Amino acid sequence: MKKNSFLNSPSIMKLALQYKLAGKPPKCALCRSRMEKQDRPLLFLLPLYHDDEYIPSAAYYNRHCTPIEDVSQIPTGRRACRLWVCVCPSCGRRKIAVEDFLRVRDVELSEKYTIYEEAELSSLL
Ligand SMILES: [Zn+2]
Repeated sequence: MKKNSFLNSPSIMKLALQYKLAGKPPKCALCRSRMEKQDRPLLFLLPLYHDDEYIPSAAYYNRHCTPIEDVSQIPTGRRACRLWVCVCPSCGRRKIAVEDFLRVRDVELSEKYTIYEEAELSSLL
């Protein structure tokens, strides 16, 4: 197999994209360890389309997130977000990472990635 065809294969492209788009979990403020994203993020619809702008905040997400089960429930052109619980492997401290994205066919374009205290978004968990 030629190098180029390997790099251009759909699965490699998809992996590279997922790697690029995946926001890193934060570092723990207490022990400086990199936190770990827990499996199974929660999925929500946002009242935004395409490249609508807003200032991400806990207040915004608390007010506007509508829970959904699966990406198949995202209407075309509508923005959605994933909410990840991140846990420190050393001390167990938790934070919440929110990634707002636009899904275009099978590709997810990351729009905003922000980190919150668990208490700020506890109503969504
Ligand atoms: Zn820690």
